[in-house]
Amino acid sequence: MDFALTDEHRMVQDMVKGFGQKEVAPIIKEYDRKQEMADFILPRMAELGILGICLPVRYGGQGMDYISLGLACEELEAVDSTLRVVMSVHIGLNSLALLQWGTEEQKEKFLVPQSRGEKIACFGLTEPGAGSDVAAMTSTAKKTNSRYVINGEKMWISLATKADLALVVARTDPEAPDPHDGLSAFIVEMERSGVSTGDIHGKLGVRAGSTGWIAFQDVEVPLENRLGEEGEGFKIAMSCLDNGRYTVAAGATGLIRASMEASNKYANERRAFGREIGKFQLVQQKIAHMVKSYEAAKLLYLRAGWMKNQGIRNTRETSLAKWFATDESFDAASEAIQIHGAYGYSDEYEVERYLRNAKGAIIYEGTSEIHQLMQAGYALGYRDDPPLRCELPAYDVDSWQNPK
Ligand SMILES: Cc1cc2nc3c(=O)[nH]c(=O)nc-3n(C[C@H](O)[C@H](O)[C@H](O)COP(=O)(O)OP(=O)(O)OC[C@H]3O[C@@H](n4cnc5c(N)ncnc54)[C@H](O)[C@@H]3O)c2cc1C
Repeated sequence: MDFALTDEHRMVQDMVKGFGQKEVAPIIKEYDRKQEMADFILPRMAELGILGICLPVRYGGQGMDYISLGLACEELEAVDSTLRVVMSVHIGLNSLALLQWGTEEQKEKFLVPQSRGEKIACFGLTEPGAGSDVAAMTSTAKKTNSRYVINGEKMWISLATKADLALVVARTDPEAPDPHDGLSAFIVEMERSGVSTGDIHGKLGVRAGSTGWIAFQDVEVPLENRLGEEGEGFKIAMSCLDNGRYTVAAGATGLIRASMEASNKYANERRAFGREIGKFQLVQQKIAHMVKSYEAAKLLYLRAGWMKNQGIRNTRETSLAKWFATDESFDAASEAIQIHGAYGYSDEYEVERYLRNAKGAIIYEGTSEIHQLMQAGYALGYRDDPPLRCELPAYDVDSWQNPK
């Protein structure tokens, strides 16, 4: 494994960092307080090519590799988790699934505008009564001669009210002996008749982002909008999570870094008992722990990104990276508040927002409990990952950067 960053990787880091720190950091507190997403975020991310960063040029993307996606997510979440959430759903959970499972026609029709950021994409898996237990979902897609008719409700959907397109998983075969085999995936244009959406307010974190619900009432979609084969919905959803979780892991690594940097700055300025608080060993211990968390989280996501680049299945490694980084980011943000004392408890400083944002990532894209079950399952030999009909393509620089 070679984790040395290339010039292109550094360029991505600088560009995304510049956007986040100069354009978003100054206004993020205001939008977090208002519980609104700033209007300029999505168009600006599109303009900078961030929304298609790791998609092939011929599909409208920037032709960078999967590590670039991780680096971008780290820089974005170092500013605010809501920026990284955009990448998780638009690229991780949706666009990469089109790249992996889509037909050429679907890639031309849906992936190209998504990669360019002309269309925004979301991912509808969770329902009011089905989160970790995906196969308990009750949304249905009934096949008629020339179309599917979708009914049901999706809940806790990031960008629900901002997206133009959703990747939706619904039940096509209620009689399947194993309910996992009765699910299928669909690309749904949000403008279709019968689709309605709304925002969820009062969230603990990711307040400057958009989280909502999508209801489907007799929504007709053509057969050619089905992604993959009928009955492949669960496998497709899990492969989406392999990519979404990677972005969450990389983002949480950025959150650890932000907590560490804020703590270092404050510990070097704040004085108590005649010296900077950074001189006290108990404060140093917290900083040292953040350093350890950051370095380990970074290596774990880079390994997952490297495996994606090579075309090696990485469900196990990505799950570990996501579980580790998100748990550690919560601890780092909590200790950053402790280092800031009472000031950390107010939104005068950034660290209280880091803590509120960090909690969400321990819940979405597999709760920490689900990742622990996965890791124990692999270790005990209860779980393995059989090859998929369509694997995420390995990164190939010539093919990715070829416009044709
Ligand atoms: C901010 C935010 C954004 C989100 N964005 C999206 C999105 O874009 N698209 C989407 O589809 N979903 C999204 N989600 C939903 C998210 O993926 C689910 O919340 C998550 O999968 C957990 O499901 P649940 O909330 O129903 O909890 P449950 O599955 O009901 O779990 C409740 C508790 O029980 C535990 N538990 C459940 N099963 C087990 C078990 N077998 N063993 C041990 N413990 C268990 C869980 O770990 C958890 O602690 C989002 C959620 C949030 C908070």
